Amino acid sequence: MAVERTLSIIKPDAVEKGAIGSILATFEAAGLRPLAIKMVRLTELQARGFYAVHKERPFFASLVQFMTSGPVVVSVLEGEAAIARHRELMGATDPTKAAPGTVRAQWATDIERNAVHGSDAPETARVEISYFFDATQIQGPVEALA
Ligand code: GDP
Repeated sequence: MAVERTLSIIKPDAVEKGAIGSILATFEAAGLRPLAIKMVRLTELQARGFYAVHKERPFFASLVQFMTSGPVVVSVLEGEAAIARHRELMGATDPTKAAPGTVRAQWATDIERNAVHGSDAPETARVEISYFFDATQIQGPVEALA
């Protein structure tokens, strides 16, 4: 297994519910180490850009409105097979289908207000990490930045 990095977002619904600590603890306990963390309030333009792949979907406007409705906590997590592991811990997009014990089963409200985001592949992880963080804002050996 390879060490990977993934982009994780705790969405506005979970921030509002006071779940930041619980969710980060779940990820850390599973061996996902935070290399960068920040709380931000996304602008409409930032949310539209981040979810551009979904711009033709009927729920796009609603998703953008939700993602800009309050602060989010964005982090870079590193670990063995971090992308798949993080998505397993998140659970299915629709919380009614999320396995018991997953973050979405515990914290999501519905299929849109579903508590967390996680990159789905190495290339999207790279793009999503650089969408939010400069290389110098991510902890790690200096050689990795060179
Ligand atoms: P993810 O990778 O599990 O986050 O799922 P997707 O990439 O398919 O969708 C991105 C985000 O759009 C989801 O996390 C939800 O917040 C939202 N979303 C996905 N499907 C639906 C849907 O059918 N209806 C609504 N309202 N939102 C959705």
